[in-house]
Amino acid sequence: MKYILLIGDGMGDTPVPELGNKTPLEVANKPCIDRLCAVAEPMLVRTVPEGYPPGSDVANLSLLGYEPETYYTGRAPLEAASMGIEIPAGALAFRCNLVTVRSEEDGRLTMLDHSAGHITTPEATELIQAVQAACGTARLRLYPGVSYRHLLIHQGEAPVSLNTVPPHDYLSQDVTAFYEQYLAVDYLAELMQTSAQVLAEHPINQQRAAEGKGEANSLWIWGEGRKPAMNTLLERHGITGSLISAVDLLKGLGVCSGLEVPEVEGATGWLDTNYQGKVDAALDALKQQDFAVVHIEAPDEAGHQGSATDKVRAIEDFDSKVVAPVVAAMDRRGEPYRLVVTMDHYTPIARRTHEDWPVPMFLYDSSDDSSGVQQPSGVTYTEANIIAAAEQARRCLESGAAFFTRFVSPKDGEKHG
Ligand SMILES: [Zn+2]
Repeated sequence: MKYILLIGDGMGDTPVPELGNKTPLEVANKPCIDRLCAVAEPMLVRTVPEGYPPGSDVANLSLLGYEPETYYTGRAPLEAASMGIEIPAGALAFRCNLVTVRSEEDGRLTMLDHSAGHITTPEATELIQAVQAACGTARLRLYPGVSYRHLLIHQGEAPVSLNTVPPHDYLSQDVTAFYEQYLAVDYLAELMQTSAQVLAEHPINQQRAAEGKGEANSLWIWGEGRKPAMNTLLERHGITGSLISAVDLLKGLGVCSGLEVPEVEGATGWLDTNYQGKVDAALDALKQQDFAVVHIEAPDEAGHQGSATDKVRAIEDFDSKVVAPVVAAMDRRGEPYRLVVTMDHYTPIARRTHEDWPVPMFLYDSSDDSSGVQQPSGVTYTEANIIAAAEQARRCLESGAAFFTRFVSPKDGEKHG
């Protein structure tokens, strides 16, 4: 049996006035997904435990069957894994952005841009190296990443209970209170102040200012956590596999769960991504391995941007360029497979951010003839349809772990094989 998990990040939504009060999933033309859904088992799964932030990190950790309560330590350790950086035992990893902030006349601080004008990787690498040279200590070490996204590893006794926040959640907002927390820890204060000086004087920033581009005039550290003690999916469920995504966070989850994470050229996380390359990578992996995940970021991005037309298009592309070719290829191979279509969380256009509601999904089993599926949903794949069908079929699962076990275990009364 092969297992295939296809994730349309943030696909779920609420009725959108612009779409005649329908959701993007209700409006999108997605014949392959709808055909599978009708003969598949509907499920409603709580991917975000109560009290947890509905981030893609927590939600996708759940979709891979790991309990966030046990395994989620923060976002930075997952990104470190995707960058191939080993976090020493006891150390704390922070995500470290290069950002643009503005000091106001009254001394308060405003977050202007979490990406320092989407600074290029070569520019950012030079800046981070300059900061590391000036501020690096036995305790603190900076690692350059891609564009504005970098990493800080902290060794030794951890700073007491920082309440760090993602800078992209505070655009154009006053972030003084958060910044002051760094200043309250002596060595973090030194890092923030010295790095600000180094950045202000650096020729790259002077050049950017002259060109009217955003200056990377500050670091911003957040998302901290220790190395998660995750056993692999091979150890947990006896399956090997690959995870295909454009997003660092997802790749880090793959690395931490023992999956292979092939690099796909042209995978962008947007509508222009290399769908064909991602599908090929998954189908290739499935020749040798048991399990493949294909993660598509575009619906979530469209949700954040508040674009209904882009979100509908992202879902239609997900159907025609991911689900349909995977199903066609697997059917040609003739080996039985199970396939799940899901989202990790909702990203409603009206809110332009994530929601922690249980997610609608379906589990299709190619080895079932129509009589083999105990309770085929009989419906197309929409939020309302699956919620109703899952409730009727009593398939409302309280955790991603419960879902994943169901996914990779034999159905009731069946034998493994
Ligand atoms: Zn997500």
